[in-house]
Amino acid sequence: MSNKRIVAVDDEASLLHLLAEFGRLQGVEVTCFPAWDEDVKSHVNLSEVLFLDMQLPGSDGLDVITELSDASYDGAIVLISGVDEVMLEYAVKYASSKGLNLVGFLQKPFNMDDFSSILAECESFENKAADNAYLASTPELNYKEVRKAITSQWFYPVFQPQINVETGSIVGIECLARLEHPSFGNISPTRFIPTLERSRIINDFTKVLVDTALNQLTDLLEAHDHLTISFNISSKTLNRDTAVKLIEIINKFDVRPEQIVFEATETSALDISEETEFALTKLRLFGVGLSIDDFGTGYSTISQINKLPFNEIKVDQSFIQHIADKQTSRAIVASTCQLAHNLNYKLVAEGVETLEQLAFLKEHKCKVIQGYLYSKPLSIVQLRQFIQHFNIAVS
Ligand code: C2E
Ligand code: CA
Ligand code: CA
Repeated sequence: MSNKRIVAVDDEASLLHLLAEFGRLQGVEVTCFPAWDEDVKSHVNLSEVLFLDMQLPGSDGLDVITELSDASYDGAIVLISGVDEVMLEYAVKYASSKGLNLVGFLQKPFNMDDFSSILAECESFENKAADNAYLASTPELNYKEVRKAITSQWFYPVFQPQINVETGSIVGIECLARLEHPSFGNISPTRFIPTLERSRIINDFTKVLVDTALNQLTDLLEAHDHLTISFNISSKTLNRDTAVKLIEIINKFDVRPEQIVFEATETSALDISEETEFALTKLRLFGVGLSIDDFGTGYSTISQINKLPFNEIKVDQSFIQHIADKQTSRAIVASTCQLAHNLNYKLVAEGVETLEQLAFLKEHKCKVIQGYLYSKPLSIVQLRQFIQHFNIAVS
C-alpha cells in the first residue's frame, strides 16, 4: 500500500489535514484537494484510492460519481460523509450501477482506527476484484445444462438447522439446493434457480428435491414429530398440478403435513397469479406451513399478507446483517418481529452470524434462529453429526 497513490477531496481543511496525518502515520502519502476542480481531475485518474466528500461546494457526490464513471476511473473509492445512511446506500447503488469500485465509507467524525480499517479494505480490493471477476465469469447455466444436471443427478439437498434459542433445541431445517457441476464445480443456487424458473422446469425440480430430502430425513421427521423441514418454492410458477403432486409426495412419508413448510421466494404480491393463489391455498388447507421468505425486500409484502394464507415470516438476512450498523435495519427487524407477533405468525430470523445480532433478536422476542452463528447448510451426513450435539424439539 505504501506505493499507492491516494487522493482526498474535501472542502473541510481540518479534515484533509487529519487524513494526511493518518496517512503519514500509516506510511502512505495522501494528496489533498479542497474542491472538485480541474486540478484534481487531472490527478485523480492516476490514483489508486480516492477519498471523496459527498458534499462538495458546487457538486454533490452523485455528480462526481457520474464524472468518475465517464472518465472510466478504476481505483477504489471511499466516500467521506456526514449524510445519513439511506443517501449513502443510494450512492453505493448508483456507483456500482456505473461500474465504479466503491469500497466503503468514512463517517464523520472518524478516527485513526476507522481510517486504517478502510485502508486495509482498499488494500484487499485488488484481490477481491480478481475474485469477483472469477465469479462473474462463472456462467449461469442455460436450459440444456440444467436439464443435463437434472438427468445426471448433479443436484442434491443440503440442510441448515433452525435453533430455538430459548430451549437450545433444533426446531427446523431448511432444505437448500446444491449443484456440483463436473466442469464448473459448486454452483450457487442464484445461478441456476432463475434458469429453472424461466424454463418452467422449477416445479419438477422442486418435486424431486422434496422427495429426495424427505427420503433422507424420514427417520428423523418420524421420530421427532415437531421437527419441521422447509423448502423454497417459486411462487411465480407454482400451479395447481404441482400442489397436487407435492401433496402426493408428502403423503408417501410418515410425516405430519404440519412438519412441512414451503417458503415463497417471490415476494411480490403483484406477481402472484390466481393459479398460484389457488395452489398455495390448497397446500395450506392440506396442513403444511407457508412462509414469506426474505420478508421486507418485496415492495408489496404487506399487502400479500392479506391475500395469502401465510403463517410464518422469515426476516430477511440483508436486514439482520446490518443490525449493528444501521438504524433503518434495526427498525425494520424490530417492526417485522412485532408484526409477526401481532399476526400470531411463526417468526424465523435467517443469516444470523453474530452474538450482537442474536441479542437484538432475543430482545425482540424472535426465538427461532438460522445462520452461520449456529451452522452453515450441511450435507445429510454432517447434519446427523450436528444434531447429536443438540436436542430436537419435543413440542
Ligand atoms: P434463501 O431461501 O433466502 O436461503 C438462505 C441463503 O442464505 C442460503 O444461500 C444460505 O446458504 C445462506 N445463509 C444461511 N445462513 C447464512 C448466514 O449466516 N450468513 C450468510 N451470509 N448467508 C447465510 P443459498 O443456499 O446460496 O441459496 C440462495 C437462494 O437460492 C435461497 O435464498 C433461495 O432463494 C434460492 N434457493 C436455494 N435452494 C432453492 C430451491 O430448492 N428452490 C428454490 N425455488 N429456490 C432455492
Ligand atoms: Ca428460503
Ligand atoms: Ca431468505
